[in-house]
Amino acid sequence: MKSFQHVSVPTIEGAISTLKDYKGKAKVIAGGTDILSVLKDRILPEYPQALINIKTLSGLDYIREDKDGLKIGALARLSTIADNPVVNNKYRALAKAAKTVANPQIRNMGTIGGNLAQDTRCWYYRYPHQLGGRIMCLRKGNGPCAAVKGDNRYHAIMEAKKCFAVCPSDTAVALVALEATVKIRGPQGERTVLVSAFYQPLGNDLKDNEILTEIQVPEPPASARQEYIKFALRKPVDFGIVSVAAVIKVTDGVCHESSIALGGVASAPLRATAAEQAAKGKVINETTANSAAEASVAGARPLSKNSYKVEIVKTLVKRVLLSGDSE
Ligand SMILES: Cc1cc2nc3c(=O)[nH]c(=O)nc-3n(C[C@H](O)[C@H](O)[C@H](O)COP(=O)(O)OP(=O)(O)OC[C@H]3O[C@@H](n4cnc5c(N)ncnc54)[C@H](O)[C@@H]3O)c2cc1C
Ligand code: SF4
Repeated sequence: MKSFQHVSVPTIEGAISTLKDYKGKAKVIAGGTDILSVLKDRILPEYPQALINIKTLSGLDYIREDKDGLKIGALARLSTIADNPVVNNKYRALAKAAKTVANPQIRNMGTIGGNLAQDTRCWYYRYPHQLGGRIMCLRKGNGPCAAVKGDNRYHAIMEAKKCFAVCPSDTAVALVALEATVKIRGPQGERTVLVSAFYQPLGNDLKDNEILTEIQVPEPPASARQEYIKFALRKPVDFGIVSVAAVIKVTDGVCHESSIALGGVASAPLRATAAEQAAKGKVINETTANSAAEASVAGARPLSKNSYKVEIVKTLVKRVLLSGDSE
């Protein structure tokens, strides 16, 4: 690892002004579970001069509920979120997603802000510089996408044009189904962005000198079923290959409201609006679940090695519709 400055900041304002001072040559560090491996493998052409340590910001690890819903400080640990009684009671899709992240050690270190802002896991992008030189591509500034003609088994099957890497965050998928927003602070002040709009084709919405400060989750409809199902190869520690989160309001067997989000299919978790429409107003049974599953993949355009993901999406959509709210 190359050397860098490590600057601890006591306030959000201090963090923003320090980031500004470094003029794009500094990065934020929270739990460090992602950023340190990015630096260790020197995958990015520009090595940061400094890491701005935000773990020293006091009071940014809260989980509280008010009349507008749930508020989570960006420094709340994934393990704390997974164990929190309010999250488990009313925002279960998020608790379930947090429980599936990696392993206990990473959930104990990793923060929700870092989980949302973590870098992509595309294996060409992550290729270590010390093993014969980093692989450049559009997401790193320039170069062709190696995944298009290469081994793209874990890449996007929907809506990708320039970069086929998928969003690696489990919590993001649940937060999209829960229609959550993130609060971002920078030199120009504060702004709020839907989690579904936070991800961009080549990264995320954070500017160099901005900090993600809070996640806001509106209260879901009372007694709505909530689910998060993830398909991964090595269950106790792996990133999802495909995941589906759902918030479904069913009364007398009929679906009145539904919000279904797909993970592992695109650069952002995608709302499966066609599947939601296919289920709305219908009795939830095998027939409805099958037509929603088909609708969820109508826009799929798999690459050469990942058409198997289409079948997994269909299976998981069907499963979230037919399952009861499981623990
Ligand atoms: C072996 C392994 C398995 C994993 N499996 C999964 C998995 O199954 N599912 C999953 O979702 N994730 C998985 N992860 C990723 C892991 O969840 C993330 O590394 C972790 O959540 C990042 O949080 P952190 O606080 O450590 O972030 P850091 O490593 O400190 O930061 C990550 C990135 O976010 C930025 N950042 C962090 N906080 C903020 C903030 N508040 N404002 C602005 N920018 C910020 C940093 O600059 C950096 O770019 C895995 C990681 C490993 C190493
Ligand atoms: S999928 Fe994206 S990150 Fe991966 S090589 Fe292609 S452009 Fe780069």
